[in-house]
Amino acid sequence: MTIKDCTKNSENKLLCLNITGDKPYRRVINLFIGIVASVPITLTLPADALQVKVTPSNPELGDTLSVIINLDNPDNGSNPKVAIGEKTYPTFAIAPNKYRAFVPTTPVETAGIRKLKISGDGQVQNLAVTVRNRKFPVQRITLPPGKSADGATEYELKRVAAFKALQTPQKYWNGSFGKPNTGRISTIYGVRRYYNGKFANDYYHRGVDYAGAAGSPVVAPAAGRVALVGRVSQGFRVHGNVVGIDHGQGVVSIFMHLSRINVKEGDIVKTGQLIGAVGSTGASTGPHLHWGLYVNGQAIDPVPWRFNGVE
Ligand SMILES: [Zn+2]
Repeated sequence: MTIKDCTKNSENKLLCLNITGDKPYRRVINLFIGIVASVPITLTLPADALQVKVTPSNPELGDTLSVIINLDNPDNGSNPKVAIGEKTYPTFAIAPNKYRAFVPTTPVETAGIRKLKISGDGQVQNLAVTVRNRKFPVQRITLPPGKSADGATEYELKRVAAFKALQTPQKYWNGSFGKPNTGRISTIYGVRRYYNGKFANDYYHRGVDYAGAAGSPVVAPAAGRVALVGRVSQGFRVHGNVVGIDHGQGVVSIFMHLSRINVKEGDIVKTGQLIGAVGSTGASTGPHLHWGLYVNGQAIDPVPWRFNGVE
């Protein structure tokens, strides 16, 4: 049996849907054409105003999550907001109606789900991102009793903390980061430590060490503005002679233990520009460069920034 479902459009044409017959979809299409033709102005589609994409698609601890938000409504005046619980992450416009926030992850965090709340255009979208666990190498350090290195000075800590907190709206970097030194990598990011057999819960290697020769060039891995220059003579006891580059939008690089500094605060540097030389100043047991890459105050793994690029 064939059932016909018929309706008249505004031009009094009968449109029928043959439910059990052959190729009913052709009838459905005709029906829709009839409806659209008869009501050309009032047909509105539901707007999907908040589109969110998170990369990388399968992140692990140490990765930088890039939260990209597309808004449909231009000129509504405010950036969308990204939050995990009470913590908010700044968003910056990266194209018309397109915004991005970086969410850092680190080895001292617990792997698992991050519940992102994204608000904008008067809408809220909740998104669950799973961050996979990652095994980091472990070092066992034995300290003789009573021996401890001179700690950082108040001045040093204050200056470095202010530098790492920078969230400059301007984006200076473009594409993937280069190497800051041509030496081999002696310690990778994220290494954990035991001190005298006790696991240091808060410690992880907050950067990458390059075993470049003393005096070998240290160059900017990406463009930016020199926002920190510190010297042993000013009290930089742990960092030693240090340069910090602000790459913008919450991304900063720090270069420690330098023997020489070639830049001053406020300088704008290009990728590959000489900023100093490898040394062993501060808390260092031999010449090497420590490069730390920070996103919104947290040291993340520079490797994805070096090889994939993070926009
Ligand atoms: Zn290091």
